[in-house]
Order: sequence, then C-alpha cells, then structure tokens
Amino acid sequence: MIEIENVHKSFGALQVLKGIDLTVKKGEVVTIIGGSGSGKSTLLTCINGLEPIDSGRIKIDGTEVHAKATDLNKLRTKVGIVFQQWNAFPHLTVVENVMLAPRKVLGMSKEKAEEIAVKQLTHVGLSEKLSVYPNRMSGGQQQRMAIARALAMQPEYMLFDEVTSALDPMLVGEVLDTLRMLASEGMTMICVTHEMKFAREVSDRVAFFHQGVMAEIAPPEQLFDAPQHAETKKFLSATH
Ligand code: ADP
Ligand code: MG
Repeated sequence: MIEIENVHKSFGALQVLKGIDLTVKKGEVVTIIGGSGSGKSTLLTCINGLEPIDSGRIKIDGTEVHAKATDLNKLRTKVGIVFQQWNAFPHLTVVENVMLAPRKVLGMSKEKAEEIAVKQLTHVGLSEKLSVYPNRMSGGQQQRMAIARALAMQPEYMLFDEVTSALDPMLVGEVLDTLRMLASEGMTMICVTHEMKFAREVSDRVAFFHQGVMAEIAPPEQLFDAPQHAETKKFLSATH
C-alpha cells in the first residue's frame, strides 16, 4: 500500500504540493490528471524518493520513504517509475539495457538477469527486438522497452509519468495497451496521463490536481460524468 499523508513540497518560494493525501491499495489503479505545473510529476518523484519533501509522510508498505534510515535503493526496486522519455544506453542492445539494473542493483547473475529481461521484453511484445540497438526502434517500442526495464526489477508498484506524451499519435495505442495489460494483471499503478479515454477505462479512481492540491478524487464515472469541483469541470471541458 502507498500512503501519502499531508505532503508539502516547495521548490524555493514555489509551493508545488500543498498538502496531498492519497492512499493507493494493492491492486489499485489510480490515474492523475490536471494542468501543466499542477504538481503531478513532483508527487511521483517524491513517492519513490527521487525528491525530498518538506513535510508530511509517504509510506510504502509501512516504510517511510523519506526517513533517514530508509534504504532508498531497496525501496526503489519495489516502486518502478517510467517517464515520458528514457535514454537507453545506445551502445547496448535492448536485452542488455533491460539486464543492466537487475545485474547492478539486485546483483543478479548474467543468466538470471537475461532470463528476466527476455521474459519482460516478451511480455511487452518485444521478443523480436532483443538484439536490436534501441535507436533502431520506434518511440512506442522504446517506451515498451522502458516499461520492461522497470518490470525487470520485479516491482510491486509502478508509477507512470505521461509515458505516451512524447509519442506520435500512431504509437500511443501500443503503449496504452501495455499499461492496460499490467492493470488487468493486478499491478498497483499510479499513472499521470492526458489520455482521458484510457483513464476512464483503466482507473479505479481518478485524481484531479490543480495548483498543488488534489481538488477531487473519485471513480472515473463520477469524476468524468459528474465532476464536483469547478476546476475539474473547467479542465474537462477544455480537454474534451
Ligand atoms: P506537472 O507534472 O503537473 O506538470 P510538475 O510537478 O512537473 O507539474 O511541476 C510543478 C511545478 O514545479 C512547476 O511550476 C514546475 O516548474 C516546478 N518544478 C518542477 N520541478 C522543479 C525543479 N526541480 N526545480 C524547480 N522547480 C520545479
Ligand atoms: Mg509532469
């Protein structure tokens, strides 16, 4: 379970998160929508300890992310994160890229890491691309490689930050299909997205962020069809 309690975060004088509360249970899919600059990415980077917080608390299965004693490397193996873009190592093949973190961080043998990398790449539909160099793949394939790379660490939670935003419209579908598949397998996920149709289909709950505040959170039918907050209504009418 991911427990976020009253989290505040500033960059200098700019207050980016103004008291966020959110609990995500095992197996739940929560999507976050909201305007640019509303704090969505910052929250994800705080959840896996890439950014410190000013106050409040984030716990992953009871372990406080920002406590001094917490082993962040260990915690990050539990919480995978995939961004808009990931720069793969260009001189390594796809399978070698995916093997890297299990080898370096988890200390896996070459054989075991390769087995897991092949398994995850196959899972995301890239079994034909194992020995290819990353720059020979489409943007959609590269994003699926990034997802396989995160999955190779065998995380219990996955955070996705606008993983389709940098893609040509033609390539968005294949990446969303991969996320749908993970959701249907029961992966616990927080997805920041602009894809409203996807959010409606896949989410247990949708959260709307506005200026560092989670203005509204509700099941998708409710949030999309009967939004309560004036800012949610405004945002949805602008994006539809
Ligand atoms: P979103 O993902 O919702 O678009 P972000 O969380 O990326 O929003 O950013 C929220 C605000 O924090 C923005 O105004 C952004 O410019 C600012 N910000 C984000 N990261 C940093 C940083 N590392 N240093 C300074 N300001 C930042
Ligand atoms: Mg962002």
